[in-house]
Amino acid sequence: MVLKYVHEYRDGDLAKGLIEVIKENLSSARFRSINKQDAKLRLMEVCGTHTMSIFRHGIRSVLPDNIELLSGPGCPVCVTAQQDIDAFVDLAMIKDVILTTFGDLIKVPGTFSSLQKEKASGKDIRIIYSVFDCLEIAAANPDKEVVFCGVGFETTTPTVAASILMAAERGIENFSVHSAHKLTPPALSALMETQGVDIDGFILPGHVSVITGINGYRDVFEKYRVPSVIAGFEPVDILKAILILAKQNISGIPKLENGYERAVSEEGNPKARHIMNQVFEPDDSVWRGIGKIPQSGMKLKDIYSKFNALEKFGIELKQRPEPAGCACGQILMGLKTPQQCVMYGKRCTPADPVGPCMVSSEGSCAAYYRYKGC
Ligand code: SF4
Repeated sequence: MVLKYVHEYRDGDLAKGLIEVIKENLSSARFRSINKQDAKLRLMEVCGTHTMSIFRHGIRSVLPDNIELLSGPGCPVCVTAQQDIDAFVDLAMIKDVILTTFGDLIKVPGTFSSLQKEKASGKDIRIIYSVFDCLEIAAANPDKEVVFCGVGFETTTPTVAASILMAAERGIENFSVHSAHKLTPPALSALMETQGVDIDGFILPGHVSVITGINGYRDVFEKYRVPSVIAGFEPVDILKAILILAKQNISGIPKLENGYERAVSEEGNPKARHIMNQVFEPDDSVWRGIGKIPQSGMKLKDIYSKFNALEKFGIELKQRPEPAGCACGQILMGLKTPQQCVMYGKRCTPADPVGPCMVSSEGSCAAYYRYKGC
């Protein structure tokens, strides 16, 4: 099924047709995944944008009972470790620093404070829509230091790299970044190595895959042989991906497939990766709830160390416990659903969140709360 226009991927009749095919073929199917004979198919949508789209279109509610959708570690704010949130707060408290960030991060509770609280108490914290805005703020405020909170995946990191190259070219020296950027494939490996994680298929992120291409997942796929499909974000894209994964499980033949051909190629975007790799290099990184994953983060290369905010201001990352009772980590690994967290909807709500999964617009707890677990 090759469609040409985006409205076709939102077409109600097409979606209904796919739902019928899924129901007819899969309602009584017994799935043969690689490692088990199981009555239930557990598929993980890795990306937070997929999580929100699945909820928004009520996709969970139309699937047969033997298909379960789990949310994965693809919400950038949710996976940012407590030590990085605390570092952002520490940076905001330095005299003459203008801290810049994307919107969701501001509400994430740190150990002692949050960016929102610090902003309310008068610190200069600004929500921006593009990292390039930082350069203009820096140029307009030569007596201040502009610091950017770098979170996100392969989609975001190239633009942050480009901003650093541009700052170097323009001689803007009062700009720096704390990089908590993450890479997706190492997280998939870490999931598959975690005791208790039980996933029969990955719905791979569309935006990240535009950069990595399908080739970015080949090593992980060859190692773990988990059915995998890259998907777009419209309802027809997601239903098609579910059908592909279910068919792979029924046949017992895992494949790495591209269900988002209109945006994702084999090789992805080499130019964006080149810019990213000019400025950043892989490093071990701590993920919320998951812990340290080898070579899963992107740190600034030594030649760009003058743009490294932690080095510039002498701030050290301090390992700190996550909020007591918050199950974000287990939710990000598909080990729990938000409703299995004792604080969900009681102590923790979008108005007064305990963990980042309730803060972010892409967070699983926020999505469950907004759409009441449908
Ligand atoms: S409901 Fe709140 S406390 Fe519980 S896992 Fe989600 S964010 Fe954490």
